[in-house]
Amino acid sequence: MANHWLDAATATWEECHDFLKQHSCAILPLGATEQHGPHLPQNTDTVIAEALASRVAEQSVGLVLPTLSIGYSWVWRDYAGSLTFSFDTFRAVIKDIARSLDRNGCCAMMTITAHGANPQPLKYTARELADEIEMKILRVFYPNLSEIISDAESPTWLPMNFHAEEFETSVMLYLRPDLVRMDRAVREYPPRSIDYEMSALPMGALSKSGVFGDPTVATAEKGERWFNACVESIVNVWQEFLNRHLGMI
Ligand SMILES: [Zn+2]
Repeated sequence: MANHWLDAATATWEECHDFLKQHSCAILPLGATEQHGPHLPQNTDTVIAEALASRVAEQSVGLVLPTLSIGYSWVWRDYAGSLTFSFDTFRAVIKDIARSLDRNGCCAMMTITAHGANPQPLKYTARELADEIEMKILRVFYPNLSEIISDAESPTWLPMNFHAEEFETSVMLYLRPDLVRMDRAVREYPPRSIDYEMSALPMGALSKSGVFGDPTVATAEKGERWFNACVESIVNVWQEFLNRHLGMI
């Protein structure tokens, strides 16, 4: 299948028009600008989301939208340089993007987030949009990750609660080694209080370094393997979703 993906930012409107007429689906990468410990850049989640979106599109189908590089990062609000939309602003931005696509005749959109706090506002935003517009929305946040990183050398802080540790650091060593300061990487497993996630106590108040796990054992080789496995798992979900809703691929 020729031209089964297109970069919305560099394409012309006529190219977008023709693409959506033929394929009618889009991929929105969702990142963040927030602290990632002493060794990773603030755009870690943005770099990973963007790379996942382009690789997934190459292996499946979709109009690749510009990456949203600010997300819902309330937990890091006291770290210099961390930016956050409020919960409602983030939801409003996602809704406006979805409404734009729906009006353009797009029938399905997948959001790929690489930032752990985006899925919560996204879940309820997608429910509200389901009652408002025709376009179907799929939200992915590292499907099957626990399985994919089961050969990791260090445990995650909590299941699916990881930050600037072995997984993220390995993927960054694979994608953008020039941005990783491995000489500054530290291991930290902050103590958990009994009321964690039952009160407003943020992750940001628990860690000294901003790390939740062990980045010191990260390697580019693991990063490449895990990144490719993540791409494969997202492609599988996307294809099944498109098959069910659009009967395509
Ligand atoms: Zn991250």
